[in-house]
Amino acid sequence: MASPPLSLPSRVQRQQAALLAIGAGWRHYESDLDGALRAITETAVAAMDVDRASVWLFDEARTKIVCEDLFERTPGRHSRGIELEATQYPRYFEAVGSEEVIAASDAHGDRRTSEFSQGYLTPLGIGAMLDAPIRSGGRVVGVLCHEHVGAEREFFIDEQNTANYLASLVSLSLELRRRLQSEQQLAESLSLLRAAFDATGEGILAVDRSGHAIAHNQRFVEIWEVPKELLGPAGDGGARLVYLAEQTLHPDAFVARAREVFADPEEETTDLIELRDGRSIERTSRPQWLAGEVIGRVWSYRDVTHSRRVEAALRASEERLRELAIRDALTGLYNRRHLHERISEEIARAARSGRAFTLAMLDIDHFKRVNDEHGHQTGDDVLRALAEDLSARVRKTDCAGRWGGEEFLLILPETPRSAALKLLDELREHVGRARDGLPRFTVSVGVAEHPADATELLPLVASADTRLYEAKRAGRNCVR
Ligand code: GH3
Ligand code: MG
Ligand code: MG
Repeated sequence: MASPPLSLPSRVQRQQAALLAIGAGWRHYESDLDGALRAITETAVAAMDVDRASVWLFDEARTKIVCEDLFERTPGRHSRGIELEATQYPRYFEAVGSEEVIAASDAHGDRRTSEFSQGYLTPLGIGAMLDAPIRSGGRVVGVLCHEHVGAEREFFIDEQNTANYLASLVSLSLELRRRLQSEQQLAESLSLLRAAFDATGEGILAVDRSGHAIAHNQRFVEIWEVPKELLGPAGDGGARLVYLAEQTLHPDAFVARAREVFADPEEETTDLIELRDGRSIERTSRPQWLAGEVIGRVWSYRDVTHSRRVEAALRASEERLRELAIRDALTGLYNRRHLHERISEEIARAARSGRAFTLAMLDIDHFKRVNDEHGHQTGDDVLRALAEDLSARVRKTDCAGRWGGEEFLLILPETPRSAALKLLDELREHVGRARDGLPRFTVSVGVAEHPADATELLPLVASADTRLYEAKRAGRNCVR
């Protein structure tokens, strides 16, 4: 049986009416903290029949409280932003921290609120205050403040309870805001991940611990042309593996490697897969961790065909450039700079091994005449023909080069002068043969031996030169 309304003290009726009103409209405030705070301060003013109600929250460092919303009955206005420093109101801050309701009937006289007397209460005409702590996450985070303008006024226990209830609505609103914020953050990072997942040039497949496909991006499908039935949670890991393997040059190795990696949940790998259609795919596999546990595996596939081709072409052109730098353009033999290097190397090697080597300087006889009588072009042909003879006749370990003009140099490692003379005389004879379409020509050769004739580069070359001059003087077409 309901009690007759008139028997209820009007005070309690007033509070109930206000609470019913905010309860009815509460769902509007679940995503709107500012609206909720405005509704709470208005409700507080109505429920407690006070002139001002406000919500204050501690800053991060808890050195001050900041007014989040203040409602003044006349002129019916909301405002915010005032701050109170903890150092200026130590007794008040201590009381707020104690988690008790502060019911100060005489705000000027109550030691918890008297700090506000001169600077705040008197100018605003406030005589009594009722402050309820706002709790969140197990501690006081702020205060809901009721201010009565006028003389002293009592705040009864039912009013203190109502203040506590309204303060707990503030806590609830703060919790809701926190949840909304973290949901928003989560949604943002998910959308970022999704965008990255789709934008990357890598084909990605994520599987769970039993090999079922959890997620994949479009690029994965493109690289492997995977049919739909092999994707999605129902997709069969085994069939998919076989399907991928069949496109590779070494299907058995592909399957074996995938099984091996899959068997070790924490394994991280990168390897290269050659496909039958000529593409090269770089495969990376990483475990997916959640709360310290591996819950799946992410496979990513990058088509490196193009970059590998570019790399190969670069390597080849570097190699060509290196060759060009050490070759003579007309004959293709080593040039003088490279011959210098090779002679130095040979000197160093001979110093270690103690074995003799020889240098032979060859010079075409009366080459000027060839040019004069047959033209410069034919002269070039003769130079090339001699170069071919040198390349063809020398041993693999020997080194033939063009010293300059119509002079050529041979390095014969581990060959004493006596052996070199024999070898070079055969070469001389071979060069002097008749050839189709070319004037007959002969060479004179000077031979120097390391270390007998000289031990350093320039003296050794000079020694070969001297011998060459001797050969010329002896009538040419001979070896000295
Ligand atoms: P010798 O028997 O004393 O060596 O007589 P030679 O005519 O060969 O004497 P010399 O060394 O004075 O002449 C070398 C000639 O080789 C002079 C030069 O015009 C020619 N020559 C040098 N380099 C080249 C070349 O790259 N191509 C052609 N066609 N001729 C060259
Ligand atoms: Mg010459
Ligand atoms: Mg000559």
